[in-house]
Amino acid sequence: MEYLVNQTRIMFIRGDITAQDTEAIVNAANSSLLGGGGVDGAIHRAGGPQILAACKKIRATKGLCHPGEAVITTGGNLPADHVIHTVGPIWRGGNHGEPDLLSSAYRNSLALARENGLRSISFPSISTGAYRYPKEKAALIAVGVISAFAAANGKPEEIRMVLFSDQDLQVYIAAWKKIAL
Ligand code: ADP
Repeated sequence: MEYLVNQTRIMFIRGDITAQDTEAIVNAANSSLLGGGGVDGAIHRAGGPQILAACKKIRATKGLCHPGEAVITTGGNLPADHVIHTVGPIWRGGNHGEPDLLSSAYRNSLALARENGLRSISFPSISTGAYRYPKEKAALIAVGVISAFAAANGKPEEIRMVLFSDQDLQVYIAAWKKIAL
């Protein structure tokens, strides 16, 4: 599925984030920036040791990456030139600032892409794996931030939501239709 907001193409596809040829892909990292499971593990495996080396440098200079924040590194051996590492919130029932932190994770990743002049970016479904954020709720936040950013900036040229299963893809498309009405 593909939609146009302002000058930005917003796409929803089923796929593997590590295979995307956008200028940046987003990693659902943890605060340590030193790797983990899920998307994080897949990105470091596919991208090679340069990514971890760059993350270690950031750790040494800036410390932890707190929930809602984002940092950028090389994409190493990935098709994408850059990885934007962001940390989503761990779901703790929804009354611990989770919606704001998840919004910030998407917004700060998009802002970092803009600051670096990147034309295209791919996102996974942040926080909905190990961090247990309910998918329907997370999808509404993701599409809300993405469409607002596109409407306000007209950039990047392409924002791709990359879902790992058909079921997740349907959840994100349904969320898009809900906010687009
Ligand atoms: P978090 O810790 O933020 O919850 P996870 O990596 O555990 O992040 O999961 C986030 C989502 O990414 C889940 O929906 C999971 O199915 C999906 N996912 C896992 N591997 C990949 C991949 N290679 N490409 C795209 N999505 C993936």
